[in-house]
Amino acid sequence: MSDRILTLNAGSSSLKYALFEVAPDGRPARIAKGKLDSAGANPDPVELIAWAESENGGGALIAVGHRVVHGGREFSGPAPISDALLERLDRLTPLAPLHQPHNLAPIRAIRAARPALPQVACFDTAFHRGRAPVTTRFALPRAYEESGIERYGFHGLSYEYIAGALRAAAPGLAAGRVIVAHLGNGASLCALLDGRSVDTTMSFTALDGVPMGTRSGSIDPGVLLYLMRERGMGAAELEDLLYHRSGLLGVSGLSGDMRVLLESGTQEAADAIELFAYRVAYEIGGLAASLGGLDGLVFTAGIGENAAEIRRRICERSAWLGVALDGAANAAAGPCISTGESRVAVWVIPTDEEEMIARHTLALLQASR
Ligand code: ADP
Repeated sequence: MSDRILTLNAGSSSLKYALFEVAPDGRPARIAKGKLDSAGANPDPVELIAWAESENGGGALIAVGHRVVHGGREFSGPAPISDALLERLDRLTPLAPLHQPHNLAPIRAIRAARPALPQVACFDTAFHRGRAPVTTRFALPRAYEESGIERYGFHGLSYEYIAGALRAAAPGLAAGRVIVAHLGNGASLCALLDGRSVDTTMSFTALDGVPMGTRSGSIDPGVLLYLMRERGMGAAELEDLLYHRSGLLGVSGLSGDMRVLLESGTQEAADAIELFAYRVAYEIGGLAASLGGLDGLVFTAGIGENAAEIRRRICERSAWLGVALDGAANAAAGPCISTGESRVAVWVIPTDEEEMIARHTLALLQASR
């Protein structure tokens, strides 16, 4: 029987899980995955442990790996769970109040039920550590930065996976200047130089950057001051507006789901789609400036992997950078979707955050043995 690793990605309303077996070559191979929705109650992660040990003939569960949104300044890689670590991660909750508590709850539940089972936290921020200060600094008085207010960046597990997949598929390109567009319900872009994060569009929180399904993306902070002063809006109301009622949903008045908007045909849906493509292309321009030019562009996540029409619009707006799209390859989702003459190679690569968590978890376990 092979050793097994369970990965958990706990959100506010769902728990995504995947089960891996350690293959003879020492790499994790997925054997099952799924998603539990919580209609009111939180899904029980402890039940998943029993399932993981018995599923598909059974096997020894050697560790559980978790996606944890915030690792703060301390963690540039995954960390083994301990009581001390949980305390440190609790202290980061104010930086990600909508995500961090949901990520930590199943860790605690499993720790209580199975204290000897190793668990590993894999952070969305870790891949973005070590960037130049000019890319992490807000133009605020220094004391604010010293207290932790800086541009962290998120979706790190996805970018790390893509950096590795691109290195395997096109090593020459991966060694150059590449922008990855992770376009899902949450959306951000990352500039990679030789596979390392140089800059990214999400910053202090997962609100910054491009508009998303229901999140506003970047907004003039003066708008928030205005809403507070003139409309009497408080923190909770602003949070609800910016996280849950804006983005594609807010502009379309219809849905935060890109598929629904592409099929709808209303003017408001068209406006939302156009704003999304415009803002993504705008950030590509900005990140190309960070990189001093551009060799490659990679699309990933739900919209990036599946919506050829959105890729087409973004690429057309990026033609000035030397992007030339191959229409037939784009319709077939690649993997390479640029023409032979395109100065920028454009790829579609499906992301796999669970696999990244499983690899990290296994590596950490082996290092500690
Ligand atoms: P999450 O950030 O929750 O993991 P996903 O990466 O699954 O989200 O992306 C969800 C988004 O991808 C939704 O906006 C959905 O409409 C979009 N999407 C998925 N499939 C398609 C498709 N075939 N065409 C257009 N958009 C799609």
